[in-house]
Amino acid sequence: MKRYLAILLLLAACAKPAQEHLSDYVSTLVGTQSDWSFSTGNTYPAIAVPWGMNFWTPVTAEREEDGWAYQYDKHRITGFKQTHQPSPWINDYGAFSIMPFTGDEDSGSFFSHKSEEARPYYYKVYLADYDITVEITPTERAAVMRVTFPENENARIKINPFNGGEVRTDGEWTRGYSVQNHGGVQEGFRNYFVIKADVPLQERFATTRGQVATLYIASSFISDEQALRNLAEVLDRPFDDVRDAAQVSWDEVLGRVRVSGGTLEQIRTFYSCLYRSTLFPRKFYEIGADGQPVHYSPYSGKVEPGYLYTDTGFWDTFRALFPLLNLIYPDINAEIQSGLANVARENAFLPEWASPGHRDCMIGNNSASVVADAAVQGITSHEDLEVLYKALVHGTENVHPDVSSSGRKGYEYYNSLGYIPYDVDVKENVARTLEYAYDDWCIAQIARILKRPQDEIDLYLSRSGNWRNVFDPAVRLMRGRNADGGFQEPFSSYKWGDAFTEGNAWHYTWSVFHDVPGLIREMGGEEMFTQMLDSVFKVPPIYDDSAYGYRIHEISEMQTANMGNYAHGNQPSQHMLYLYGWTSEAWKGQMHIRETMDRLYSADPDGYCGDEDNGQTSAWYIFSALGFYPVCPASGKYIIGTPLFPKAEITLPGGKTLVIKASCPGPVFKTVTLNGKSLRNNSVEISHLKEGGTLRFR
Ligand code: CA
Repeated sequence: MKRYLAILLLLAACAKPAQEHLSDYVSTLVGTQSDWSFSTGNTYPAIAVPWGMNFWTPVTAEREEDGWAYQYDKHRITGFKQTHQPSPWINDYGAFSIMPFTGDEDSGSFFSHKSEEARPYYYKVYLADYDITVEITPTERAAVMRVTFPENENARIKINPFNGGEVRTDGEWTRGYSVQNHGGVQEGFRNYFVIKADVPLQERFATTRGQVATLYIASSFISDEQALRNLAEVLDRPFDDVRDAAQVSWDEVLGRVRVSGGTLEQIRTFYSCLYRSTLFPRKFYEIGADGQPVHYSPYSGKVEPGYLYTDTGFWDTFRALFPLLNLIYPDINAEIQSGLANVARENAFLPEWASPGHRDCMIGNNSASVVADAAVQGITSHEDLEVLYKALVHGTENVHPDVSSSGRKGYEYYNSLGYIPYDVDVKENVARTLEYAYDDWCIAQIARILKRPQDEIDLYLSRSGNWRNVFDPAVRLMRGRNADGGFQEPFSSYKWGDAFTEGNAWHYTWSVFHDVPGLIREMGGEEMFTQMLDSVFKVPPIYDDSAYGYRIHEISEMQTANMGNYAHGNQPSQHMLYLYGWTSEAWKGQMHIRETMDRLYSADPDGYCGDEDNGQTSAWYIFSALGFYPVCPASGKYIIGTPLFPKAEITLPGGKTLVIKASCPGPVFKTVTLNGKSLRNNSVEISHLKEGGTLRFR
C-alpha cells in the first residue's frame, strides 16, 4: 500500500509541475550549439532579467571580438562577459569581461555542461583547471558575481575592459570603461563600469579552501557617476536575495501565460521560447538622480531625457515579436514606442536595425509596422504618434546618408515607378518593393488614426498595392522586373539573394501580409493559390547560391529541415503556413504548423532551426502553441492555427483572462469558438480576444 501511495504521489508530482517557478523550465542553452555555417539559434545563455540593460554570458571564445561568444560544443571557458550583443552577425558593444583563475597564467579552463547550471536568473559553472566555482546573478543594470576559491597562494581576478578600454583599481573599488563598438554609436561612446569587491582585483592574493569573493558590478552608458547610482540595485545585498528577486521577475513575466497538459518537453520548449521573447529589445535607459528615465543617445551622441530600448532588427521582429509584446506586455511596448519617438526627436530617421544606434543590416522600412501595430492597439500616446508619423513619412522619401538600412534605399525608383527595378544599382529590389508596399499600408493605418487628409491616406494606400508590380502572372511568383517593364531574364525560382533577401521567389511571394485576398486573385484564384502553397513543400530543397558565391547558413537550414523549399529557419517564410487560413484547406496549414512546432523546436542546445533573431523565431512558437498568429501586424486580427496544449491561460492587461482550450490533441481542428460564438474566416479580432473569456478549439 505504501508503495502504491508513493507511486500515486509521484504521478501527482509529474502531472502537476511546480507552477510557482516557471523560470526553472527555461534552458538558456537552447540555440547555443551553433556556428557561422549552421545555426540552431545562434544564441548565447543570457543571464539577465527581462529586457535588462545588461546581460551576462559565459565566454568560450578565444578572441574578445568573436561574435560567437559561447558555443555549446567548446570545452573551455575563457571569461564572463557583460554583453549587449543582439546577434553574432551584429556583434557586441560596450562589453568587458571578468575571469578568476589560479596559477601564473589564465588560458581558460576546461568545463563540463554537467557542472554548469544555466538559468535566466542564475548561472553557475565549475572551472576545473582552477578548482574555482563562479556564480552570477543579474539585475537590470547591475549584477553580483560570487567566486569560490581553492586553497592557493596565487589567485587572481582579472578585468578585461576590451581593446581601447581602461581599468583602474583603488582598494575595494574598481572603475573603468569599455569603448568597444562595431558602429551604431557616436564619437566619445563609453560603457562606464564600477565594481566593488572584497578581494583586490587585478592583483595576486592568497586564498583558503572555500573562500568566497563577492563582486558587485554595475555600469552606465551615461557616466561614471551614473554607474555608481546603478550599483545601488545590488550593493551589499546578499547574493541569494538578488538571485531570488531575479527569479521572481522571470516568474512574473513568464507567468502571464500558463500552459498545462502538454509533455514536460513541450512545456520546457514553450518557456524557453518565452524567455527568448522577453529579452530584446533591451532597456537602454537609466534612472537619473531625479528618479526620471534618461539615456545616452547613440543617435545624437548626447544624454537625452526619457526612455530608449535597443538591440533588435525590425526586419525580423515586426512579424511576431512586437505583436506578442502588444498582446501580453503592452506596458513594455509603451516604453519602447516612447523611446522610438525619442529617436525621432534625436535624429531624422527611425532605426531599422538598432544596436545601439543605426546599423547597416537587412532591408525594408518595417519600423512602420512596429509603430502601426502599437498605434492600432492604442498603446502609443497621440503626441508621440505625431512625431513617429513624421519620421516615417520622412523615411519614405529619404535614405540615411551613412547607414543605408535606415529610411528607404531605392525610394526614388519606388515612388516614381512603383517598384525598384531589377536592372538598377539597388540590390534585393523585389524584397524591398514588397516590404515597402506593406510598410506603406502600415503608414496609411497611422494616417487614419491621426485623421490626416484623405489624399495623404490614399497615397499610401495606393502605394501599398505596389507588390503587384513585381508579381509575374506567367510563373505566379514574385520576380525581378526591369526598368522598361519586362521581367528579369533568366529567372530561377530557386535563386537566393539577388532580387530577394536571404531567400528566393518561393519564400518571398507570400510577403503580401496586408492583402492576401489580392494575392489569391492575382494567382488565379483559391485553387491555384493552394497549389502554389503546396508546391513550396513539394519542390525539392534545391537552391542556387550564385548571388552569394557560397551556401549561406539559411540555405543549409532549409535543406536539412526536410520540408522541401519551406525555410522556417528564416523570417520571410514564417507567416506562410497561416496563409492556408484564407483557403478552404486550413487543415493543411495546421498539419505543417504542428510539424514545425514538434520537429523544428526543442529545449535542447540545438533547439531552433536557424537564427533565433531576438525573439522573432521564439515568438512564432509562442503564438503557434497558443493557436493563432499575427500574419498582418496592424490589421487587428490573428489567423487561427492549431494550439499545442490542452489548456493555456493568458493574463491580459487589466486583469482579464483568456483561456484557450483544445478538446482534442489536433493538429486538425474544425470548429473554433470565442465565448461560444463561432469564428469566421479562420481569424479572430484581437480586440475581442482582449476582452477575455474562452477560445475553444474542437
Ligand atoms: Ca534570420
